[in-house]
Amino acid sequence: MTDIIHLLPDNIANQIAAGEVIQRPGSAVKELLENSVDAGADEIKLIINDAGKALVQVIDNGKGMSETDARMAFERHATSKIKNIDDLFRIKTMGFRGEALASIAAVAQVELKTKREEDSSGTFLEIENSKVIRQEPVAFNKGTSIAMKNLFFNVPARRNFLKSNTAELRHIVDEFIRVAMAFPDIFFSLQSNGQEVFHLEKGSLKQRIVQILGNQYNSKLVSVHEQTDYLNIMGFVGKPETAKKTRGDQYLFVNNRFIKSAYLNHAIMNAFSDLIPKDSFPMYALFIDLDPAQLDINVHPTKQEIKFEDDKIVYAFVQATVKHALAQFSITPTLDFDLDPSIQQLDSISKPMTDEQRSSTASSSLFKSFSQKNQAHFIERTGELKHWKDFYEPISEKTQLPENTIEKLHQQYEADQPVMQLHATYILLQRADDFLLIHQQNAHERVLYEKYSLAIEGKPIATQQSLFPATIEMTPTDTIVLQELLSDMRELGYQIEHFGQNTFVIQGTPADIEGGNEKSVIEKIIEQYNHFSSDLKFTKREKLLRAMSTQNAIKTGVILSQKEIQSLIADLFHCEVSNVSPNGKPTYMTFYKNDMDKMFGR
Ligand code: ADP
Ligand code: MG
Repeated sequence: MTDIIHLLPDNIANQIAAGEVIQRPGSAVKELLENSVDAGADEIKLIINDAGKALVQVIDNGKGMSETDARMAFERHATSKIKNIDDLFRIKTMGFRGEALASIAAVAQVELKTKREEDSSGTFLEIENSKVIRQEPVAFNKGTSIAMKNLFFNVPARRNFLKSNTAELRHIVDEFIRVAMAFPDIFFSLQSNGQEVFHLEKGSLKQRIVQILGNQYNSKLVSVHEQTDYLNIMGFVGKPETAKKTRGDQYLFVNNRFIKSAYLNHAIMNAFSDLIPKDSFPMYALFIDLDPAQLDINVHPTKQEIKFEDDKIVYAFVQATVKHALAQFSITPTLDFDLDPSIQQLDSISKPMTDEQRSSTASSSLFKSFSQKNQAHFIERTGELKHWKDFYEPISEKTQLPENTIEKLHQQYEADQPVMQLHATYILLQRADDFLLIHQQNAHERVLYEKYSLAIEGKPIATQQSLFPATIEMTPTDTIVLQELLSDMRELGYQIEHFGQNTFVIQGTPADIEGGNEKSVIEKIIEQYNHFSSDLKFTKREKLLRAMSTQNAIKTGVILSQKEIQSLIADLFHCEVSNVSPNGKPTYMTFYKNDMDKMFGR
């Protein structure tokens, strides 16, 4: 028997290791930007082509590298930032694994230009498959330019794994924003396919937030600031009225590094809990600083998750600080909580409805869409016997009814037999041999889903032009998402136009959207869409259909009139698939009288 174990060649080992650090163009963006920050640059330009698949280039005016350091930088475990294991716990700079450049060099073609202030000429390097293939002196200003070309050119399997340009661009913009937000005293620009997408002048954190997230936050930011011996927290949260239906604008940094923490997010949401509707998300950009020894950042390879020595203290501290900031701002005379509509809505969300509230809800768009006859999904109950027959057609052998029974039932139904709504959630529908319990939300999701599918397949929903077109500001990432959906949304009755940068103009919406609600309806749709967006098995269009039907469906807890109930039942049994919601939940259950009789010993 021959021995079968062998060592992998260096370049393959490098490629494998690289996969952990560089998963997509966005990961290279993060690493390169962080290196430029660490190099002390105050001007950093990011240039990308073809969503970073063809080119990711970062040019900075930082301290540059010597010729030897330039070559060393691309070796695995080459770093100027740690010398021993203790350093890991003290590290203040962004990168500290000495792996980024080595990884990039293993999976892309790299061109480096760099020069230190004190050197008369700079260094140019060309690297492929982790090997320097060209090196020469070059005239260059102080600083470094690293161009990463044709990512995964030598790992086709990985290259094929990259997502659409829109998706990759979104990751890039996310990473760019996370770094740019944390360093407002550095100029950043982002150029994509020759077009400047961001141009962020140096300024205060507040200015940077407004530059990135849009003017709607101007004068809508509450400053958060607290210092203790253990940790400091500073930054801004959006005033409650700016809370959105999409989660987008939430940024948390620890020691100037963007992190994801469901735990601390919860602390912040908690501080807002009485001030905003339950399904909305406040903006925040908060910076926590504490002794690096209190952290273990290295728990996750891409360093977005961290462990705190004592996370309960941090939680309590974050929550109290944000609460305090919000309370302080609320007693300033410029804001009157009682008049703030987003706060007035709160009672209707958390408490049972009063009659007054009920009648105002009844005039809402959703209710109207249910009860107005000119709506596409409203079916006149006269004539059109066919659907009623479908409806009463037996679900199983058990309920096989003679034809005349169906007729009789139908007549009974025509006579407007009242149908009961239970718990503002279920509709109880009696039939000859059984009764159905219909779940109003699941059922309406199904109804809308089929209506929207038809619309997209060529029966567009009519648009009602807005008299006063509203503009809507999106986050850069949501801008990309919305742009992608504009043409499909048009078929669904939403006429939205991109108005440069992150601004859109809502020219028209389906007739059942009440004037004034357009913005939040669209925000909610995008939030839902994002919710589905990691689901690879769905097409973009399918995700949109699901997002819209989930979002626009009548919810549980809403009391329906007889008319609305009747039309929901009619619509449901008019569907091609009536027994499950698009998300696979049952729309109704059948309870057979026979079975019931047995249960009661009869
Ligand atoms: P790390 O950042 O963890 O040290 P990298 O592979 O990202 O590892 O970079 C290796 C080294 O290359 C850095 O420690 C730094 O000394 C040098 N370097 C990388 N990018 C730059 C840059 N833009 N300007 C100056 N030096 C850089
Ligand atoms: Mg680095």
